[in-house]
Amino acid sequence: MTQSETLFQRAGIHIPGGVNSPVRAFKAVGGTPVFIDKADGPYLYDVDGKRYIDYVLSWGPMIMGHNHPRVRDAVVQRAQFGLSYGAPTELEIQLAERICAALPNMEMVRMVNSGTEATMSALRVARGYTGRDAIVKFEGCYHGHSDSLLVKAGSGALTFGVPSSPGVPASIAEHTITLTYNDPDGLRECFAQRGEEIACVIVEPVCGNMSCILPTPEFRQALREVCDQSGAVLILDEVMTGFRFGTAGAQGYYGIEADLTALGKIIGGGMPVGAFGGKKHIMEHVSPLGPVYQAGTLSGNPIAMASGLATLDIISADGFYEPLFAHTEALCQGIQAEADKAGIPFTTNYAGTMFGLFFTEEEKVQNYQQVMACDTDRFKRFFHSMLDQGVYLAPASYEAGFMSSAHTDEHIELTIEAAGKAMVKIAQ
Ligand code: PLP
Repeated sequence: MTQSETLFQRAGIHIPGGVNSPVRAFKAVGGTPVFIDKADGPYLYDVDGKRYIDYVLSWGPMIMGHNHPRVRDAVVQRAQFGLSYGAPTELEIQLAERICAALPNMEMVRMVNSGTEATMSALRVARGYTGRDAIVKFEGCYHGHSDSLLVKAGSGALTFGVPSSPGVPASIAEHTITLTYNDPDGLRECFAQRGEEIACVIVEPVCGNMSCILPTPEFRQALREVCDQSGAVLILDEVMTGFRFGTAGAQGYYGIEADLTALGKIIGGGMPVGAFGGKKHIMEHVSPLGPVYQAGTLSGNPIAMASGLATLDIISADGFYEPLFAHTEALCQGIQAEADKAGIPFTTNYAGTMFGLFFTEEEKVQNYQQVMACDTDRFKRFFHSMLDQGVYLAPASYEAGFMSSAHTDEHIELTIEAAGKAMVKIAQ
């Protein structure tokens, strides 16, 4: 038995499913999750002493790779002065100033502890601000696990939403309308019928939770248009994409004007952080300035702020993103070439520092239905072959991959080489 297998058995005794977040359990790919001992640069090291080139990067935050010395030093330095005060610090102002300077429509921002809190709170502000209850989201987007957002479409796109998890009351789910991503006509139709009830549209500007799906220009335009016409708030969930497409996020990359933005992951540099913010006239509704309640014992935690500040310092340097964009493109094109050589129907989506791999005959994958129609069995075999060869991809076909500045040309070449062997293997 490997150390990982032993630990997984032990973990299952007191931790549901042996993990503290479901996708870590490898259910979508089978086998035993790899238990991690340490991480450095582009590498994860498991408890059995095996090294992996990591494209999960803690599900996004580690854009400079793991254990970056400047972030580590900032955390260690700050930890000498106490871990939490429950009172304001200058560090919070510094991080707020940095975030507001980076994102075009971010005039005020509130720190929280996770992406889930960020989107949940942004929804409340949008509802409080508009005095409306209904919200619009898109199939395949994930916005954390708060009740209003764990909802799937009912029998028709415009019928009541239904809970996608037991424990979510139907009376909450009925306020959530779930539409198809990249379907501007569906969105316009929904607003034509129910626009006056809708508080907000929440959307991942690049979706990283149904592998990686890019927004079409028509879809991007419709998002702003329906919100402008109806008075609904446009919430861009940039928990994953924030600071991954340049410092102005996917909204800067694609030129989408957000009313509110949710952030997480990178802004904490690996510590538990989230944030929501946006236009001042909306954010002024947040307590204690306004009546919409939101709070947190550990919000703005000094160690997390120090980690986030060090991270944003480094990635704001001129020329930080170009090599990552180039590596993302090279990786996807290289894997595509290997799939073509092996005669496997395959395509990729990539933009910025995110990518998705699809085992499909389709040339373009643009929505959830297409993602779900991909060959998951082939993905599983590809995943395990890559893992065996020391490449750690997300253990589910519906998760995006991420690039870091610690990945060099050599890591990309090694990954493509491994993908070539994996493609040959799974072609059989
Ligand atoms: N929003 C998006 C787009 C995410 O990808 C995630 C998590 O992956 C969340 C929200 C929830 O963030 P957290 O897991 O920090 O609660």
